[in-house]
Amino acid sequence: MSQDNLLEAFMGQLGTEGVLTGEALNERYSHIWEMDQPLRAKALLLPRTTEEVIQIMKICTHYAQPVVMHGGLTNLVGSTQSNEKEVVISLERMNRILELDEDNRTLTVEAGAILENVQQAAWNKNLMFPLNFGAKGSAQIGGAISTNAGGLKVFKYGMTRNLVLGLEVVLADGTLISSLKKLIKDNTGYDLKQLFIGAEGTLGIITKAVLKLIEKPRSRNSALLAFEDYNRVVKTLKWLESNLAGTLSAYEVLWQVTYRPMAAAVFGNNLPLAPEFPYYVLMETSGADQEKDRQRLEHLLSDALDQGMITDAALSDSPAQQEQLWELREHMDHVVALCRHDQHFDISLPIGQIEEYVLGVLMALDKLPFVRECYVFGHMADGNIHLIVDKTKQGEETINAVNEVVYAPIQSYGGSVSAEHGIGMHKKAYLHYSRSPEEIRLMKSLKQMVDPLGILNPGKIV
Ligand SMILES: Cc1cc2nc3c(=O)[nH]c(=O)nc-3n(C[C@H](O)[C@H](O)[C@H](O)COP(=O)(O)OP(=O)(O)OC[C@H]3O[C@@H](n4cnc5c(N)ncnc54)[C@H](O)[C@@H]3O)c2cc1C
Repeated sequence: MSQDNLLEAFMGQLGTEGVLTGEALNERYSHIWEMDQPLRAKALLLPRTTEEVIQIMKICTHYAQPVVMHGGLTNLVGSTQSNEKEVVISLERMNRILELDEDNRTLTVEAGAILENVQQAAWNKNLMFPLNFGAKGSAQIGGAISTNAGGLKVFKYGMTRNLVLGLEVVLADGTLISSLKKLIKDNTGYDLKQLFIGAEGTLGIITKAVLKLIEKPRSRNSALLAFEDYNRVVKTLKWLESNLAGTLSAYEVLWQVTYRPMAAAVFGNNLPLAPEFPYYVLMETSGADQEKDRQRLEHLLSDALDQGMITDAALSDSPAQQEQLWELREHMDHVVALCRHDQHFDISLPIGQIEEYVLGVLMALDKLPFVRECYVFGHMADGNIHLIVDKTKQGEETINAVNEVVYAPIQSYGGSVSAEHGIGMHKKAYLHYSRSPEEIRLMKSLKQMVDPLGILNPGKIV
């Protein structure tokens, strides 16, 4: 097969404007944080329809051509990296919202739609798509589904997996698996869509999705809490959940090391709470009555202060104040900007053991001379902690040394090396800390069955 034949075949389907090669690739990249590094690929393909994706995959199967999928390029595990032997497919031109069904509370979209646009479309109809995370302005629905993204509201609304009702997927050989149903209940054999959710593009290309919406909450109240110790962070979560009658919608923790620079970046000298406490929590309630919900929260926080569960609290007074408060958690780029070389982790652990685990990791990192700092924060209510390790130097040796410190203890805690970001390239070597040999073998068998030539996102996950 000559390269020209392959590219001609693509151009025959997509036209010249849908196939970027050569110098045109210099304008493109494989991650939003590496825009200065030109995309390495044989070609970048920009289909407009599912039919074009089907035809591309038939050509790729014919030529055994490896393919890397691109969404919004915000993943944190190297899963959109490619090389000159691979073609890249981006669904950025397939970004339409196809239908919003208010009665069924569903939204049908093309996979290239940006998450923030999807959220807005639902919001405009007094509905909500609750998936929310810092990269929402760039991440695509196809990428979010392929990573089974989590984010800030998981413990109330679930992971992306819980928010997808139907999927349209193109398999490696061009077969279309279309199940764009709006059903909450459908026990007709295996739930095949779940196979593709979180598969990081290794089993199929997601081209459309039916998303589940919920009624837009009529009230939103946010507060920042300060704690003397981790035990109180855990106990207060349980106490708030039982007293807030299902309206607690977020409970995000920041270790002091993270609160200090974040608060300084967001609030300057006018901090909402003094920076001397070991733990801070950003919490949110979503309910039906703004004033009553606020009063209830105010009373509860006052009780919590009286009982010594929390040490200090700042309740936001306006939507603008809430937005600013949430910047503390959503704009971790403030912390990343302080790092010389940042390495990111998302760990899952039983909630009660997080403190012990983090202390052990911090002590071990302290012994690595090239580690400058470790910023700790996370989705506390989901048992999901993020670490950003700042280092004086980069390179395989330092990356592996930090990985070993962070991942090695995970198994003994019954935790996971990836709560939400996925495995991609960066965590492949550590998958065995979370999955048994039998599980990994089954994953490999599934991959072999669905993509026998191994052309979809080769080398990712397994
Ligand atoms: C600032 C910041 C904050 C973040 N916060 C969170 C967070 O709180 N929670 C969280 O879970 N993640 C978070 N992430 C990680 C990232 O945003 C998510 O993983 C996101 O879901 C990736 O979507 P994307 O469109 O950018 O996908 P990409 O990065 O482009 O791709 C991700 C994977 O999906 C595959 N893929 C993309 N589109 C398709 C498709 N249509 N069909 C098949 N495969 C496809 C790619 O090949 C790749 O393997 C954060 C990232 C950043 C930069």
